[in-house]
Amino acid sequence: MVYNNVLEAVGHTPMIRLNRLTEDGSADILVKFEAVNVGGSIKTRTALNMIEAAEKEGKLTKDTVIVEPTSGNQGVGLALVGAVKGYKTVIIMPDSVSEERRKLVRHYGAEVILVHDAGDIGACISECAATAMRMAADDPHVFVPQQFENVHNTLAHKQYTGQKILEQVDGPIDGFCSGIGTGGTITGVGEALKAANPDITIWAAEPENAAILSGRPVGTHLQMGIGDGVIPPILDQQIYSDICIISDEEALTTAQRLAREEGLMCGISSGTNVAAALRLAKKLGPGKTVVTILPDTAERYFSTPLFDDPSVE
Ligand code: PMP
Repeated sequence: MVYNNVLEAVGHTPMIRLNRLTEDGSADILVKFEAVNVGGSIKTRTALNMIEAAEKEGKLTKDTVIVEPTSGNQGVGLALVGAVKGYKTVIIMPDSVSEERRKLVRHYGAEVILVHDAGDIGACISECAATAMRMAADDPHVFVPQQFENVHNTLAHKQYTGQKILEQVDGPIDGFCSGIGTGGTITGVGEALKAANPDITIWAAEPENAAILSGRPVGTHLQMGIGDGVIPPILDQQIYSDICIISDEEALTTAQRLAREEGLMCGISSGTNVAAALRLAKKLGPGKTVVTILPDTAERYFSTPLFDDPSVE
């Protein structure tokens, strides 16, 4: 089978059973391995859906400039979609995100504007957003997808990620958990899975140092892509029944174990998700099935502590 362009190949990712990480007396854990998605992360799905929805709504012309404030993967996804469809793309990001992400965005031909993160990631992300909105106010050709508010972000996960998971998994899905960046994944996948099994248990996962939904103070942390210090407008806070708080160390160790014990090269928030899934699997017990997401590839984190594993010589 030949795809007519790379965008047609977006989203065809495997569901993989964890073997060595899963503990005795726990539910099975199945992971959706988005590290091997086109563009290296789950966010290519949302980029494509937000741009194609805007095209259908007549919001884009050949002179459109796509501008988005994003901490990384959404920028890579939009740069990729912009490259294929021929739109100029400008990504505004905090200077605290990993260098790999900036380079990737530029490699797809997009422009990067960096905003200084003085230790308050929430404030920095607000400034990235304000910069994008100023650009939109100054230039009618600028289109800002606004992933934190765009329903087509959530719908990408409800109609595609969630439906694919249901097609791929035989039998009922009893548990689902996910960290929250925009909240698109947990809300969209959560809605799809809950429609198929109203009794499903859904848990959110938050970084210990940015557990805003748990009422804790927000500081810096390593779990890039989640815990941005804001409660996103598209997040449905009714979709989950509990919140797991995950430390940076637990996220890192779990992501490192995923590579070394399961052969799954994935990013730090994948460690967050699987750390939460291990707790959920223990709670639900044997015979049940828990699903979570590995949102991106480890190759995006060479300059981060993910690759500083002290147990590796
Ligand atoms: N992990 C990573 C690495 C991400 O880039 C994102 C997206 N920001 C997420 C998790 C969270 O996904 P969502 O925005 O759908 O909540």
